[in-house]
Amino acid sequence: MRPTFRALQALDRRAMRTKSTAFIGLGRMGSEMAHNLFSKKFAESTEWQFIVCDALPENAVTFRQNLLSQYPGANIDIVHTPEEAVYASETVVTMLPSSPQVKTVYTEANGIIPALQTFKSNESERTLFIDSTTLDVDVARHVAGSVIKTGAQMIDAPVSGGVTGAKAGTLSFLVGGTEASFLQAQPILAYMGKRIIHCGSSGAGLGAKICNNLVLGVQQIVVAEAMLLGQKLGLDPVVLAGVINSSTGGCWASSVNNPVPASLPDKSPPCERDYEGGFATALMLKDMNLAMDIANANNSPLPLGQSARDFYTEVINHRPDLAKKDFSSVYRHLKEL
Ligand code: NAD
Repeated sequence: MRPTFRALQALDRRAMRTKSTAFIGLGRMGSEMAHNLFSKKFAESTEWQFIVCDALPENAVTFRQNLLSQYPGANIDIVHTPEEAVYASETVVTMLPSSPQVKTVYTEANGIIPALQTFKSNESERTLFIDSTTLDVDVARHVAGSVIKTGAQMIDAPVSGGVTGAKAGTLSFLVGGTEASFLQAQPILAYMGKRIIHCGSSGAGLGAKICNNLVLGVQQIVVAEAMLLGQKLGLDPVVLAGVINSSTGGCWASSVNNPVPASLPDKSPPCERDYEGGFATALMLKDMNLAMDIANANNSPLPLGQSARDFYTEVINHRPDLAKKDFSSVYRHLKEL
């Protein structure tokens, strides 16, 4: 499909930008978040324009087609580069895999910062960047610093709540940035999430997110261990999951993301779909490495975090097919040991 950006370029850029929002990165999380953002904002104003961009053009095309089938005539355009997204929009949300992709999208040629540097200061000062990627805190601070130098605003706003929360619009956003940029971002984040927490200055949202995922990464492994051990002791997985979930061992990994098929009769975790969807094992390994790096840099010991990181590494080395499956698929590897 030919992008309609050329037509957009012919219009008065400044007038259009104030009514446009761009979303870059339409993967498992981004596509659901962008869908909520569009649906709820579009319901308020049909004059509003949505710009989407993904390194895989088919992701953007599929997203646009889905929205148009639901909202015929909706004002949604595809652009091919982050630079085009900045020229067309005053608010830009990015949801990318990790640090390398954030560096590419923000700093490289055809990226966001080189585009911002061509703006006059009064053009860039109302522009807001919201990065919801989980990435290295130092990289995020460096990128935000370079964006802010151009006069624009930027926050880190990683999320908690998974694909289910992204779809339901109930994500928690953990925000790092100035009070002013937090307040500017709040109404936009409210279209996609329920809890919006200002954690502190630039990078603070990511620090909170990395600590949360450190807990989650350890818990998901130990829940898999306990569920496997219990079955070896002759326990029915439904009974065992029920006991854990009504006792002190209960946690999200056991009560929502239990790794054993049919153990949660009233829920549908990724294990019911051959571990498809959800949070990829490779992304959890990435987050455990982020935790290790930041802990080493700050002299904070992580004995369990290190074991969990090593175990996710082992899972992916032995079963590369589990890298893209939900991280609860560590249970499958454990069963085979
Ligand atoms: P994903 O891999 O499904 O999606 C990433 C998207 O970014 C893909 O569509 C990819 O094509 C696109 N992309 C990559 N490089 C790009 C570039 N240079 N320019 C434009 N687009 C590019 O990942 P996801 O599961 O959606 O996760 C995104 C982020 O959210 C990660 O940082 C992850 O750690 C975090 N997160 C994920 C979950 C989850 O349950 N999946 C939960 C919380 C947080």
